[in-house]
Amino acid sequence: MTSHPLKFHAVVVGGGLVGKTAALAFAQSGLRTALIASRAAGLPPGAAFDSRIYALSSSSQTLLERLRVWQALDRARLGPVFDMRVFGDAHAELHFSAFQASVPQLAWIVESSLIEQSLDTALRFQPSLSWFESRAQGMTVEADAAHVALASGEMLETDLIVGADGAHSWVRAQMGAKMTRRDYRQTGIVANFKTQRPHGETAYQWFRDSEIIALLPLPGDHVSLVWSARTEHADELVALDPAQLAAQVETATQNMLGTLDCVTPAQGFPLGLQTVDKLVAPRVALVGDAAHLIHPLAGQGMNLGLRDVAALADVIANKESFRDLGDPILLRRYERARREDIQKLMFATDGLQRLFSVPGTLARAVRNTGMAFVGAQPLVKRWLVSAALG
Ligand SMILES: Cc1cc2nc3c(=O)[nH]c(=O)nc-3n(C[C@H](O)[C@H](O)[C@H](O)COP(=O)(O)OP(=O)(O)OC[C@H]3O[C@@H](n4cnc5c(N)ncnc54)[C@H](O)[C@@H]3O)c2cc1C
Repeated sequence: MTSHPLKFHAVVVGGGLVGKTAALAFAQSGLRTALIASRAAGLPPGAAFDSRIYALSSSSQTLLERLRVWQALDRARLGPVFDMRVFGDAHAELHFSAFQASVPQLAWIVESSLIEQSLDTALRFQPSLSWFESRAQGMTVEADAAHVALASGEMLETDLIVGADGAHSWVRAQMGAKMTRRDYRQTGIVANFKTQRPHGETAYQWFRDSEIIALLPLPGDHVSLVWSARTEHADELVALDPAQLAAQVETATQNMLGTLDCVTPAQGFPLGLQTVDKLVAPRVALVGDAAHLIHPLAGQGMNLGLRDVAALADVIANKESFRDLGDPILLRRYERARREDIQKLMFATDGLQRLFSVPGTLARAVRNTGMAFVGAQPLVKRWLVSAALG
């Protein structure tokens, strides 16, 4: 361990997309920033698409544009979503369209590795950024500074530690925040397919047998699957060979897009709901999945995390000159700014997940009648679209 700590305004622990975006936002505003993260791995050789994709809303696009990351993305690999069709488990259907909502698109479907590479390139050109390819393994907070010890031996001194280290956050545990988790007993299976019929830039979602299946449009004739399946069923699906998995998806999606050809192997992610009793402590702030974990049925987890970054950067940019970045008053402003957005999405995603998990004919009739009602109300639909756009 070095005897003299390296000094920073902010140390970002964790280099998922949320952490890298936070580090870039801080560094671009001239703050001496340390990022503790690995570099982008890129796509495995020969892979046409990343199986991790995100439906990014306009709030995420706006932030990434401000940081000049969006402009560097290969446009040919971005999939716009102009329409969304949601099918209930008893013939009810909802249709949302960008045209009716008077927006250019409902979302963009973007590969994780594409954004990560663009972030890495931007980070490389930041003179005020220091990148440590290591892990944080010790932290202490005192009145005038915080310290982070790295596995590689360096000691960093900082005004603010940003915990962007994901759902199992180590920073969160160190700051003494209480996390509550409810397991959905579901696994989110992701894989990409080539389709026989054009997807028409439409995102499809089916609620069936307490499971949720989404096909999201990738560029050309490809789609990305997100199948939130009961754990035992998910284990069976992941064990299938690509042709068998494609056949299962064709059946589950009523052959909407014709024959499917699986082009990336399936991966599974356990799904849960995590709430945290506080987002901040003196000299510490949590962002992204470290701060909240929601069901992916609305494709909003990353969007929520990027809005954390935008809010934290905004609070810092508008701070009084006599406050340093770790000032509890400043950090509480960040926490207050984020509370409503986080609670709203937790409530909505958890509520929908529960609604479609209730077994029985009566429950099915009630939820499908509800969907049909919403479908007939243009104003309610408009409100839902604007909430999802962020
Ligand atoms: C199936 C599925 C589909 C989804 N689809 C969407 C979607 O369409 N749209 C959307 O908005 N969201 C979606 N999400 C949610 C989204 O994936 C997450 O919200 C997002 O990836 C969280 O990013 P993060 O950077 O906060 O955390 P992570 O991506 O988990 O990154 C955390 C990083 O911190 C590192 N780390 C941990 N501990 C330490 C340490 N001590 N020191 C240094 N580094 C550390 C980890 O190695 C990791 O790299 C989906 C989620 C699932 C499961």
